[in-house]
Amino acid sequence: MNEVLNTRLLHPRDQIVLVMSRIYNRGLTSTSGGNVSICDENGDIWVTPSAVDKGSLTASDIICVKADGSVVGRHKPSSEFPFHKAIYAARPDIKGIIHAHPPALVTFSIVRQTPDPAIISQAKHVCGSIGYAKYRLPGSTALGTVIAEEFVKGHHGVIMENHGTVVGGTDLSDAFQRFETLEFCARAILFGSMVGKPSYLTGDEIAAFHAQLAPLPEMNEVSYPPDEREKRMEICKIVHRACRQGLMLSSYGTVSMRWRDNDFLITPTNVPRWDMKLEDIVQIKDGKREPGKLPSRSTYLHQEIYKKHPEINSIILTQPPYLMAFATTKASFDVRTIPESWIFLQDVHKVPFGQHFSTESTVIDLVSKSNPAVLIQNDCILVTGNQLLQTFDFLEVAEFSAKSLVMCAPIGKMVPIDSEQVEELRLAFIK
Ligand SMILES: [Zn+2]
Repeated sequence: MNEVLNTRLLHPRDQIVLVMSRIYNRGLTSTSGGNVSICDENGDIWVTPSAVDKGSLTASDIICVKADGSVVGRHKPSSEFPFHKAIYAARPDIKGIIHAHPPALVTFSIVRQTPDPAIISQAKHVCGSIGYAKYRLPGSTALGTVIAEEFVKGHHGVIMENHGTVVGGTDLSDAFQRFETLEFCARAILFGSMVGKPSYLTGDEIAAFHAQLAPLPEMNEVSYPPDEREKRMEICKIVHRACRQGLMLSSYGTVSMRWRDNDFLITPTNVPRWDMKLEDIVQIKDGKREPGKLPSRSTYLHQEIYKKHPEINSIILTQPPYLMAFATTKASFDVRTIPESWIFLQDVHKVPFGQHFSTESTVIDLVSKSNPAVLIQNDCILVTGNQLLQTFDFLEVAEFSAKSLVMCAPIGKMVPIDSEQVEELRLAFIK
């Protein structure tokens, strides 16, 4: 199980080490290039050190810069500390900051553009508005000034011209979700632009998405038999694995497993996916939810899929970056790339954004044993399967295929396996 980022009970040093390791391991910073800080309730700022390997940071490497300016620790604070300090001074609501040079956001910064988070359903809400700061010398007071000026305007994150990005949050968990989601949006826009023209959601569409569907009624009593608890663990493990593999973000992703008959277990809404714990998973029994918990917004859709398709025992909804290139453009996701991809996925349909989580959703009829995956425009891919690991494998195969299709764009047009070869595959592998 993952180590959980508990911003209330973990010491700032330990929070910083945990978040830095996630950022580094997900390929979002180089060894030397990122810095993370927390401003605690005393006004002391905890920050990553200068010139220490980000891949092997420990709690004792973290520096504390006291409110009076004195420094406690065995290294020098990050050379970018001046702009962290300037942001905290400008915005008392910000208590955690992440700065790095993640590849897709740097791409935007060197063509001097800002990515629009309205590319996917939850990102506008998670990222807030994003500012743009002119180039200034790294480590200089002038850089701190131009960045703080953007935060004063109410932005929650800033693209730094020819440099990278910096995001703030009410705590480090909030900042990490924003950072990860913003880089994801940049990737979805870039990859989408390689296969088509990205389309964006309107403010009304996003508002309708957040308002959709009241939660199921609560059950009065709940019990947790061993076969139920076993599934909680399975779900948590797959969620963490998906996050580590870059197939799921903190801010979006749902996993469910059929339990008994049409009862099932599902991930909650509003819990960062990297930090999902056994007690966060929500039991759904006889059309009612476990008391005191809010299951995913897509719960009705899961319920209807389980009712209609007895062969489906697990469902994953998520936003992997290459698949989102196809979900955010009109480009069709043709899986006749290699035999594995076609055998597993066959035709992947795409449905429009809107009522896709309702009990009337067209997704319910589109999924089947031979068509386990559906793309939902500007939202996600939904993958179904028998065992959860099989569903996860389908997801990985789909993302690999999407990646190959995006990467082939500059060198040539994909030549699909032809219809005779497809028939041959059908006879050989599909009963
Ligand atoms: Zn930098």
